[in-house]
Amino acid sequence: MIELETQALVIGSGFGGAVAASRLVERGYRVTMLERGPWRNTVPVASMNVRQTKELPIKSWWHLIRNGVTSFNDWRFTGKRGLGLNRAAGTFEVNNQPKVISACTSQVGGGSLVWGGSVARPYREDYWENRAEGVSEAVLAPHYERVYSELGATFSRAASEIPDTWAHTWSAVEELDFSSKDTLSLAHMLPGSKENSLPGWGIHREESTFRSHLSLGCLDGSKASTDAIYIGPSLAAGMTLLASCEAISISKLDTKDDGYSVMVRRSDTGETFRITCEKLILGAGTFNTLRLLFDAQARDALVPMPALGQGISGNGDEISLMWDVRKSGQKEPRRGLASPFHLSDGHKDLQHAFIEMDLPDYRWPIFSSIVRALHNSLLLVSMGIDASNGRAQWKKDRLEIDFDPSQSDANVDGERENRAVAGLLGFRSFFSPKRITVHPSGGARVGESDQEGVVNGCGEVWGNRGLYVVDAAAIPEAPGTPPSLNIAAWASHVGASIDDATSAADATGPVAAVASPMKPLHPNRLGLLFSLMPNPVASGTSETILPSGTWHARCVQKFSWLTPWRRPRSRGFTFESKECLPKLVTLMPQGEPDFKFVLANAWDGSGLAWQWRGRIDSRHVEVQMRSLGNGDSYLGPVHVEGKFVGWYEMTSSREPGAE
Ligand SMILES: Cc1cc2nc3c(=O)[nH]c(=O)nc-3n(C[C@H](O)[C@H](O)[C@H](O)COP(=O)(O)OP(=O)(O)OC[C@H]3O[C@@H](n4cnc5c(N)ncnc54)[C@H](O)[C@@H]3O)c2cc1C
Repeated sequence: MIELETQALVIGSGFGGAVAASRLVERGYRVTMLERGPWRNTVPVASMNVRQTKELPIKSWWHLIRNGVTSFNDWRFTGKRGLGLNRAAGTFEVNNQPKVISACTSQVGGGSLVWGGSVARPYREDYWENRAEGVSEAVLAPHYERVYSELGATFSRAASEIPDTWAHTWSAVEELDFSSKDTLSLAHMLPGSKENSLPGWGIHREESTFRSHLSLGCLDGSKASTDAIYIGPSLAAGMTLLASCEAISISKLDTKDDGYSVMVRRSDTGETFRITCEKLILGAGTFNTLRLLFDAQARDALVPMPALGQGISGNGDEISLMWDVRKSGQKEPRRGLASPFHLSDGHKDLQHAFIEMDLPDYRWPIFSSIVRALHNSLLLVSMGIDASNGRAQWKKDRLEIDFDPSQSDANVDGERENRAVAGLLGFRSFFSPKRITVHPSGGARVGESDQEGVVNGCGEVWGNRGLYVVDAAAIPEAPGTPPSLNIAAWASHVGASIDDATSAADATGPVAAVASPMKPLHPNRLGLLFSLMPNPVASGTSETILPSGTWHARCVQKFSWLTPWRRPRSRGFTFESKECLPKLVTLMPQGEPDFKFVLANAWDGSGLAWQWRGRIDSRHVEVQMRSLGNGDSYLGPVHVEGKFVGWYEMTSSREPGAE
C-alpha cells in the first residue's frame, strides 16, 4: 500500500480546515490537506490554473440532478459512509436523522461555496467565557477581526449598493422590524471593493452582480470562499492538497511518539492509501468529524472520549417556504441579501430572514410553471440559540443523532413566528414535517475536562495529544447567528496555538517550507508532458520575454509510479520542449539571465504528488521530478527566489504503450 508522511494533516477544506491550515502554513508547518470533494469550476479556481474541476450544479437541471447530491446518510439503513450517489462530483451530503435533516457539502472550499455570505459574531457577547482554560472572548477577539477582514466582510449598512429588496418592499409593515439588518455583515465582493485582504496571489474574483447563484455555488467568486482566500495562498506557500481524497479512518500510532495514521480513499478511483502525521487536525464538518472520532473510538484506535457526542445543536434553524411571493414575469433573480428582521412583538434573540430561491434556469416546458413558482417563492428562515442538548451516538457503525428541535424554544418560537410572518404578509407557506438545518454543530465540543467536552481550550482532544478539532463539531453552543465567522475564528485560534512548530521551524520562507512534504516510494518511470502557465496578474505581464535561441528541459531524475496493480515500466525519460518554456520565461524578471527557481509540489484531483526543483539560465532548464502516479493535470505555485510569482500547471501522461 502507498504510504505517505506529513507533519500536519488537515482533514476538510471548509471554514474550519482551511483557516487552521493557513495559520499552520504561516507558522512553518509542513501541511497536507485532505478534501473528499473536487475543485469546482469557478472563476477563482480557473485563475489558479486548476483544470481538474467538476461542475457546480447550477447551470441546468441536468447538472443539478447529476451533481446535486454526493451521498445520502440515514441513521437506520445506510452504511458507515452513507449511500454514495455521486461521490466524485456531487455537491450536497444529506443526513436523515430521526427528528432532523441536515445538509453539508463535498468540495474544495466546503460549505463556503454554498453559504449565503452572512457574517456575524455569536449573539451572546460573553459567548466564549467560562468554556475552558485557554479560550475566552479576549483570546478570540483578534481572530474574529482577522478572519472578518480576510473574508472581506462589510457591514451591510455601509454599502448602499447591496440590494435590499425585501426590507424595502415590506418596510411599511409595522410588525416587521428590519433595524437588525444594520448589524449584519456580508462577505461578498461589492462593486469597487478590493478582492480580499490577502493581496498578490493573483487569484481572481469578480465583483458581485447580486444575481449570481448562491446556495448552489457561486461561479464568479464574488462571494468569499475558502478556496480563493485561504487554500490558494496556502498552496502558494507550500501546502499540499489532496482533492477528491476522503479520510475513511483515523488511528493513533502505536509508537511512543505522538502521531496518527489516516486511511484515505480516492473518491474517483476507489484506490486507498495511508498517511501518517504528527498532528492531525479534523475539519471535516460536524457529522463527518464525529463519524471519524466515533469509528476510531469503537476500534480502540484512540484514547476514549467520554463526552463524545454531547451538545448537538441545529442553531435553532427553522426553514419554511413562502409560495409565489414575486408575481410571475420576473424571471431574473433579484437578490434580497440584507433583509434580516425581527417580529416587533416577538423574541429579540430570534433572527428571521427572507432568502431567494436558487435554481437553475428552466427549459423544459412541462415543468416551467412549477419552476417559475419556485423562482418566485422565498425561503423564510429563522435561527436562534437552541437548547444545544442533542446527543450523537454510534450504533452499528452509523451515526445516530438524538436531537429533538421541537423541545427547544428557539425552534418552537421560530416556527410560530415564521407562520405569523407568512400570515401577516398574506402568503401561503409550507413547513417541512421534519426540522431541516444547515448549521449542525457540537458533539466534540470545547470543555474544561474530558467529562465536559472532547477538546480543550486550544482545540486538542483530551487524552489524544496531537489530535485537534477545528470545525463546527467543537463549537460549544449554538451561537444563534450565522455560525461560520465563529467557526473560522475558532479554527484561527487553534491553528495559531498548536504547539511547537517544529522540526520545520527553521523553514522561514515559503520555499523552505515546501521541502519534501511527501515521501514517495516505489520507483518507476512515467512519461511526462508539462506546461508552465504564468498568471498574468501575479507576474505582472502576459507578454513572452523569451530570449532567442533553443531551450531545453531535461528530467534528471527517474519517476515514481505508485499504482501497485500496474506493472512498472522502466524506460528512461528525457523531456525536451520549446513550447513550454516561453510560458515559463514570462515569469522571469527581465534582464536576469540566471536565477534559481523551485516549483513547489502540489496535489490535485488526481491525488498525485509531484516535486520539482530546478535551475534555469538563459539557455537551459533542469527539472527534477518525483511523482507518485499518473494523472492529467497538476497545479502548483512558482517561487522565484522565495517570492511567489505565479502558478504552473503540468500535464502528465504515460509513455505510449505503457500500461
Ligand atoms: C445553503 C447554505 C447556506 C449557508 N449560509 C450561511 C451563511 O450565510 N452564513 C454562515 O455563517 N453560515 C452559512 N452556512 C453554514 C456554513 O456553510 C457552515 O456552518 C460551515 O461551512 C461549516 O464549516 P465547517 O468547517 O465546520 O464544515 P464544512 O464547511 O462543511 O467543511 C467540511 C469539509 O470537509 C470535507 N470532508 C468531510 N468529510 C471528509 C473526509 N472524511 N475526508 C476528507 N474531507 C472530508 C467536506 O467535503 C467539506 O469540504 C450555510 C450552509 C448552507 C448549506
